[in-house]
Amino acid sequence: MGLKPEQFLLDLVAIPSVSPMANGPVIDYAEKHLGAFSLKRHVYRDAAGVEKINLVAQTKPGVAELALICHTDTVPCADAALHPSIRKGKLYGRGSCDVKGFLACILSAVQDLPALKKTLAVVLTSDEEVGCVGAKFLAKEKAFRARRAIIGEPSCLRPVRAGKGYALAEIIVKGREAHSAYPAQGHSAIFDAARIVTALERVSKTLATKKNRAFDPPFTTLNVGLIHGGTAKNIIAGECRITVEWRPVPGQPADWAAQLIREALEKLPGIAAAFNVIRLDPPFEPSASNTLAAMVAQLSGTRAHAVPFGTEAAHLGPLVDEVIVFGAGDMTVAHTDREFVPVKELRACAQHLRAIVERLCG
Ligand SMILES: [Zn+2]
Repeated sequence: MGLKPEQFLLDLVAIPSVSPMANGPVIDYAEKHLGAFSLKRHVYRDAAGVEKINLVAQTKPGVAELALICHTDTVPCADAALHPSIRKGKLYGRGSCDVKGFLACILSAVQDLPALKKTLAVVLTSDEEVGCVGAKFLAKEKAFRARRAIIGEPSCLRPVRAGKGYALAEIIVKGREAHSAYPAQGHSAIFDAARIVTALERVSKTLATKKNRAFDPPFTTLNVGLIHGGTAKNIIAGECRITVEWRPVPGQPADWAAQLIREALEKLPGIAAAFNVIRLDPPFEPSASNTLAAMVAQLSGTRAHAVPFGTEAAHLGPLVDEVIVFGAGDMTVAHTDREFVPVKELRACAQHLRAIVERLCG
């Protein structure tokens, strides 16, 4: 191999690409190093009008035998995190682990490729950190097709075959304001909200009865993360909002919790509550085929597992026969100010990618 992955990564971390920003500079950088590929940009403008580029690079047209997929955006950070450094074998900086490290491994692995019999694709996406927007866009456009795909996310070099989904909803409870000295004149949205929250706790217990042992915890978790209601201590609350999220496990409908919540609300008499599902990202279902997962497990000397966080796999699944998530670094240090990736893992990841490309496409 020519350039080592850490050399690419030092460049990539220094290119700011927090989700709200244009990701063009990262795409430009990648394109410079994808000389053997034909490049197609899939562009949209985000809600703020900023141009977002999704790149599909292929060695040949048609269905790819293997697609290497990576997002180009990062979560926000302090300026210092854009000045990468290597200390004691760890490369520090925003995106080093999540997930420019994987992009660096791709760029390192595809250098000086021999002529491949089968098609290799490199797919770079935008706005993953703000709801997998780029991946959803590519899925809607059917921008590529692949028999197998590796989506880069930090997994400590273990292949990931399944992941929980993510859903978010708001319940708006309506009451009637009145002077608190005259309760009969009003109706407290907060008293009603309390009954709803108790019902939501019962829903969480029902969800916990259906187990998927691949996960820890092995069921769909539900959380009431926010409650906002009332205007003053001496006013009967006219409105209360409850924010509820759940993380559905594979093997059950992603909206099962929503159905249970609707049924619970119907069973509470005299309550005026609107239930709005804001986001419903399906779980990452394990593929029927295990070829790629087994190959990666054998190369890295690990076993396939499941993760409790959401990835683009749930959205890109329809474009790919077998999809896994894989990458260097540990997700528990991603999204923190101490984000890093071990250089040893980067090099191993790049070598594994090269070996997989040669085995599947060579
Ligand atoms: Zn990521």
